[in-house]
Amino acid sequence: MKTFSITGLDPASRKPIEVLIENGLIREIRPGPTDESAWLSPGFIDLQVNGYRGFDLNAESLDPDTVLMLTREVLATGVTTFLPTLITASEERNIAALQAIATARQLHPFVAHAVPFVHMEGPHISAEDGPRGAHPREHVRPPSLVEFLRWQAASHDLVGMVTMSPHWEKAPEYIAELARRGVLVSIGHSDATPEQIHAAAKAGATLSTHLGNGVAGQLPRHPNLLWAQLADERLTATLIADQHHLPADTLKAMLRAKGIENCVLISDAVALAGMPQGTYNTPVGGTVELSEDGRLSLAGTRFLAGAARPLKDGVAFVAGLSSFSLDVAVRMATRNPGRFVGQRGQLRVGADADLVRFDWNNTSIHIQSALVKGEPVDLL
Ligand SMILES: [Zn+2]
Repeated sequence: MKTFSITGLDPASRKPIEVLIENGLIREIRPGPTDESAWLSPGFIDLQVNGYRGFDLNAESLDPDTVLMLTREVLATGVTTFLPTLITASEERNIAALQAIATARQLHPFVAHAVPFVHMEGPHISAEDGPRGAHPREHVRPPSLVEFLRWQAASHDLVGMVTMSPHWEKAPEYIAELARRGVLVSIGHSDATPEQIHAAAKAGATLSTHLGNGVAGQLPRHPNLLWAQLADERLTATLIADQHHLPADTLKAMLRAKGIENCVLISDAVALAGMPQGTYNTPVGGTVELSEDGRLSLAGTRFLAGAARPLKDGVAFVAGLSSFSLDVAVRMATRNPGRFVGQRGQLRVGADADLVRFDWNNTSIHIQSALVKGEPVDLL
């Protein structure tokens, strides 16, 4: 029996705690040393990761080794659970990528633990410029239960979340069938009407994907699909808090409108995230620039070419906003997303010892150590 402990300040109580770990599980939580200065929370949970540090889930062909390397990189940022996210592509390519992730999970138990399932972002999104974002138009297609069953047959039921636009004619039926099977449906990259948004929530959609992004640049002031998603209490919003995708005022107003409990921070990180600043040539986006402040834009423009910061940066950003706190920022990256991945992200006796210890200086978070099922993560 392997027993040890880790200490840190609990963001909720701001008091030092000591967490006793036995056989990979939290066995006891008790008061910790009074001179503690680092923070301790459940490991972060990221519902949307496309890549990191050069490892790209949406590259032309994905192999299990890339999934393994990506998982190591993501774990080193304090994220102990994440959803690999595949964007709109041909069915053949989507299935090949699903199979590569399934193989990586079979070969490596720590990948299987960190990756509970896959997030399919597309291909049933809006084909329009604007809401479609950077997804290739030629592969946008209507929802199809038959195709969904082919994804699952090819990957041992690995698809657990689907982002789609509910403007498609048969959307409610498709959503209801996925929800019946326990698959999360999220509304995103959409040009749906408010009525279609509410019909999707009624059918079983429970999330909005990166609310405020992947939407037309111009909308009628009201009604529109943003107000509908902000208003519908059945929908939890995921938000990219990288300081570039949502202006601070918009982010704060959305957090207040939905309420903290109904918000989840995501990175939506692309493969160039975590790389040094500079100019890069990418197969899909052409020449892009990564600035020192983590803004990834098409070369010579202000147009965003993806998100480039790890989730911990979003947590630090929200924690530093006036009228928010480290506690609520951490909750939106642990317990709240954890509700969608089997109640992970909670500091409680009996839970997996997926923990992160970090320094926070009001503007950034520095990971000191992370544990997955009680095993230390290599911080690379
Ligand atoms: Zn997106």
